[in-house]
Amino acid sequence: MRASRFFISTLKEAPSDAEIVSHKLMMRAGMIKRIGSGIYTYMPMGLRVIRKVEAIIREEMNNAHAIELLMPLVQPAELWQETGRWDKMGAELMRVKDRHGREFAIQPTSEEVVTDVVRTEIKSYRQLPINFYHIQTKFRDERRPRFGLMRGREFTMKDAYSFDRDIDGLKKSYQIMFDAYVKIFNRFGLQFRAVAADNGAIGGSGSHEFHVIADTGEDALVYCPNSDYAANMEAAEALPLSSVRAAPTQALAKTATPGKAKCEDVAALLNLPLAQTVKSIVLTVEKEDKGVTSKQVWLLLLRGDHELNEVKAAKIPGIAGYRFASEAEIVEWFGTPPGYLGPINTKKPVNVVVDRTVANMHDFVCGANEVDFHFTGVNWGRDLPEAQVFDIRNVVEGDPSPDGKGTLAIQRGIEVGHVFQLGTAYSESMKATYLDENGKPQLIQMGCYGIGVTRILGAAIEQNFDDKGIIWPTALAPFEVVLCPMGYDRSEAVKAETDKLYAALQAAGVDVILDDRGERPGAMFADWELIGVPHRIVVGDRGLKEGKLEYQGRRDAAATPVALEEMPGFIQ
Ligand code: ATP
Ligand code: MG
Ligand code: MG
Ligand code: MG
Repeated sequence: MRASRFFISTLKEAPSDAEIVSHKLMMRAGMIKRIGSGIYTYMPMGLRVIRKVEAIIREEMNNAHAIELLMPLVQPAELWQETGRWDKMGAELMRVKDRHGREFAIQPTSEEVVTDVVRTEIKSYRQLPINFYHIQTKFRDERRPRFGLMRGREFTMKDAYSFDRDIDGLKKSYQIMFDAYVKIFNRFGLQFRAVAADNGAIGGSGSHEFHVIADTGEDALVYCPNSDYAANMEAAEALPLSSVRAAPTQALAKTATPGKAKCEDVAALLNLPLAQTVKSIVLTVEKEDKGVTSKQVWLLLLRGDHELNEVKAAKIPGIAGYRFASEAEIVEWFGTPPGYLGPINTKKPVNVVVDRTVANMHDFVCGANEVDFHFTGVNWGRDLPEAQVFDIRNVVEGDPSPDGKGTLAIQRGIEVGHVFQLGTAYSESMKATYLDENGKPQLIQMGCYGIGVTRILGAAIEQNFDDKGIIWPTALAPFEVVLCPMGYDRSEAVKAETDKLYAALQAAGVDVILDDRGERPGAMFADWELIGVPHRIVVGDRGLKEGKLEYQGRRDAAATPVALEEMPGFIQ
């Protein structure tokens, strides 16, 4: 590629709405262009990176015998109604109507459509196992799209779906995908960690997330440096609260009678400024993820300014099983946004179980720590048949590892992939069966496997940058090598040697760009450092007199002279 024939558009300053490094640098490097909240044009420079990510994924998925198809972006509501997700997905699901008034979803993921393919195409056990995947645009109407491609509304995902005869088969298919993911993330050249994630119904090791390690990551990962133990914070097995606090036991559940709790109490308990704890609630929720129901205990803090998620959970010590809920989740559970959490009627009853710590406070009322602001229609734990007092807390650094092999450490990560054993959740609701050897219909066991293609770009940058710009791992770089001639249009020797080297590198299959724009050296170098091309070769008259070129790796402090004839080999 010649730079004069490509499109390069760099900025000195990032736009003010770009909050984190990767977003700023992608904007400055001209990789993306914002057209609306969470919606971007992938500019030529950014698209090259996306294509490289996709190529690696595609190769490894094909190696793992997954079969590519392409499912539609716009999907009939009827399919989503069959699984109940039309209602369950809430505001995140983007809905549109056609000219006849028929309803459609813009796919946030494709379990329904792929299950429809399978229920009509797969007849016999002989056709299983099978795994279909596509790399396709997704739309999720995220409440807070932010951080550029990291949490967009429109984004690209690779989603694969495996179909098996039985759970053993599902476990094998899952392992094959897990192994393929390890290969993919290794090939990206990123530092990553696979962690166990909750998947409720199926339990065990039925779900893992793949995280790119970065201090700016939204998720806390718990791992044992001496063993394989790794889980995200929600799935991590923590010491019980009772073992770290002198907390009274059982009887407390009964003392948690409805009444009024005070704002100050909650604030003190959580060590938060009073102004930040306008409302709080402890509850367990039956959570549906990909058709699988799981139970979680949360302490929800609803902030007065309704900018949820603003207070980092990590800042709050001690108390168990909480995280901040997003507004979409609040709406989903209570049928009303947090701004309107006055006395409300929950659409469906919410099962609330008091955490021991909170129960210990006087008269903690479900949902309310403001006078007369409480939820109604809520079942308290002690009134439920399955009432329990949860004795949990979050893991902290230095806790013993559950496998007994050392102590736990915590680091931050960005979720870039998620593999999930779904079981029969979808085949049941959509009646996807195969005929076994005896001609009897059986439910198909299903797994799903996602990778956030466009999020990878943001995550890679969060892990690899300096004050000059992006530092792409070679496998993801928009160009692997940039040739920077000093006076391409002035010096015949420079032009001749640059062209020769350009041709040699191209012939060797190196993804090289020749900067023939005639920029001043300072501006030229600054552009390529910002864009993050990992290898730079400078061709200048002075060096050529001694038969030398200058090579500088993106992380090198200074250039290295390399003999002309050695350069093509040197670069590989
Ligand atoms: P998150 O927890 O970040 O909201 P998720 O758990 O909802 O992600 P999945 O349903 O597991 O996401 O989708 C698979 C992958 O798609 C995720 O691991 C992530 O890499 C990517 N992804 C999800 N939401 C977004 C988004 N809004 N923008 C970009 N990538 C996304
Ligand atoms: Mg999400
Ligand atoms: Mg997630
Ligand atoms: Mg996920």
